[in-house]
Amino acid sequence: MIEVNKLGKSFHELVVFQNIDLHIRPKEIVVLVGPSGSGKSTLLRCLNGLEEPSAGTIRVGNAVLEASMDGQAKKQAVRNIRALTGMVFQSFNLFPHMTALDNVIMAPMAVKNMPKEQAVQLGEELLSKVGLLEKKYEYPSRLSGGQQQRVAIARSLAMQPQVMLFDEPTSALDPELTGEVLSVMKQLATEGKTMIVVTHEMRFAREVADRVIFMSEGKIQEEGVPEQFFAEPKTERARKFLRQIG
Ligand code: ADP
Ligand code: MG
Repeated sequence: MIEVNKLGKSFHELVVFQNIDLHIRPKEIVVLVGPSGSGKSTLLRCLNGLEEPSAGTIRVGNAVLEASMDGQAKKQAVRNIRALTGMVFQSFNLFPHMTALDNVIMAPMAVKNMPKEQAVQLGEELLSKVGLLEKKYEYPSRLSGGQQQRVAIARSLAMQPQVMLFDEPTSALDPELTGEVLSVMKQLATEGKTMIVVTHEMRFAREVADRVIFMSEGKIQEEGVPEQFFAEPKTERARKFLRQIG
């Protein structure tokens, strides 16, 4: 589903990562962990076309983006990749002047020219999936953080991405609101969505991940099934990280 080869990203002289290889199977749930500043967000943003890679290749489904492509070809490749990946951010960034339903249906109508009636039907299905159908006419300011994040997930799903990327989706939430968001994500996982999740919720990682990837200092330092990674991390860096979040 995703194949990343020799991916590198630098901001001017700052090398965030280099030579990243990553293969993700359809329906796989990968939890990506690592210290702050290790490049997790930058990696997800490259996979979503929000950052252009400095080196290497990204394939998502049938879309291929190569760092070496030139202007127009690269723009098109970025668009192709973006259409296949949905991203949910730490800050929910819903459109504040739109109702929950309008937030969900806007992109399918604007980007895919979906007729309004069909978009509304899809939007209601998705709001119902995240448990918020009764809030469809509410504005974001009248929703809790957890509810806003669930709307953001529905909005992302409305574009029917093949892969969902989550960048610390519960980090901005009060502890009592993280559960409702994690349970929506768990449900997506059981439905067979391919997902990459950056999170500090290690219980979620243990319960839901097929694989945990540990990134540090611009490299994938190790990866493994959660049972192995948490019980017997192979590298000292990972052991230190696990002690710190602990
Ligand atoms: P993480 O998500 O693992 O905390 P990030 O991917 O956000 O790490 O950041 C990795 C490094 O890249 C950090 O040193 C950060 O300051 C830097 N960085 C991220 N985005 C930018 C940017 N747009 N311009 C310059 N540096 C950036
Ligand atoms: Mg980050």
